[in-house]
Amino acid sequence: MKERIDILDLTLEELAFELGKLNIAQYRAEQIYAWLHRGVLDFYDMTNIPKDMRALLDKSFKTSSVKILDILQSEDKSTAKYLFLLDDGNIIEGVVMRYTYGNTICVSTQVGCKMGCSFCASTKAGFVRDLSAGEMIAQVLAAERHIDADKGKRGIKNIVLMGSGEPLDNYENTLKFLNIIHHSLGLNISYRNITLSTCGLVTRIYDLADEGLPITLSISLHAPNDELRKEIMPIAHRYGIDEIIQSSKYYFKKTGRRVTFEYALIDNVNDRKDHAMELGQKLKDFPCHVNLIPINEIRDSHYVRSSEKNIDRFIKILQGYDIQVTRRRELGQNIQGACGQLRRDYLGRYISHSKGE
Ligand code: SF4
Repeated sequence: MKERIDILDLTLEELAFELGKLNIAQYRAEQIYAWLHRGVLDFYDMTNIPKDMRALLDKSFKTSSVKILDILQSEDKSTAKYLFLLDDGNIIEGVVMRYTYGNTICVSTQVGCKMGCSFCASTKAGFVRDLSAGEMIAQVLAAERHIDADKGKRGIKNIVLMGSGEPLDNYENTLKFLNIIHHSLGLNISYRNITLSTCGLVTRIYDLADEGLPITLSISLHAPNDELRKEIMPIAHRYGIDEIIQSSKYYFKKTGRRVTFEYALIDNVNDRKDHAMELGQKLKDFPCHVNLIPINEIRDSHYVRSSEKNIDRFIKILQGYDIQVTRRRELGQNIQGACGQLRRDYLGRYISHSKGE
């Protein structure tokens, strides 16, 4: 039997093409696309589609499903962390953060990650596979459904590609996801409300800049020089900070969007006065934004969170270079807030359980 196509993985144009092969009129593509992205994933519930056509759709397509295995809410209800089960049994995480200006979902782009950043739980168990665009969409739809049930209204206004995985290492699928999620018949999320976070794959930053999408690019820097960065992030052996800054300037020129540099503050590793001054020197005169993140301590990591005194000093020094600095609102401290940590805990429990421990 022919493998059914994942319909959530199709752009509107691709859907129209596939429907054409089944002799279904083009305008039906718009109707079906609108149903899907409103969260109606069962073809038999698409009431403006003739019944025999629904049966044909059901025979020809599947929808990648993402089932909610577990939800952890922070005490103040500002953050919900979802553990999602994929069709092949793999597990990923998603996080919904409630802000006054609208809810934000943090989407995963890969199962695990190859990049090996030393502070990150997502990479500890290695890389498993890329996610399809459909699986990224399914995360948003699953969270939307949950928020709907919770609040009785549509909820997701912003997307951050900051879950497990390096989005630029899964470039084609990530771009397709952006196209689908932005479409006016889909979830219609403005590009300006989308942030893509990368550990700094320089060649792909140039490619993304050339796509000309006005999304916010957020680059994990975490060190003011290559020597220190190499200790924290293996990717620093491939691309130097100067190359990253050059590519960021190109991104700004092409898209008009200010680049954000993420900097996780780790006690006595990268939070000293000389580190702040070195970073200030590198970024001064470039209209960018630095987001400081007091690190979440993760299991099996020796990193310790910076003191308040060091965080304040770091902020003041950067401001002295006229650099726009923010400190990330600390969400989900009591729900395994670090990226990938919930998945690790779950897998740890599951593996111990299946070993009969
Ligand atoms: S921080 Fe991002 S790029 Fe680095 S290992 Fe974790 S998921 Fe991968």
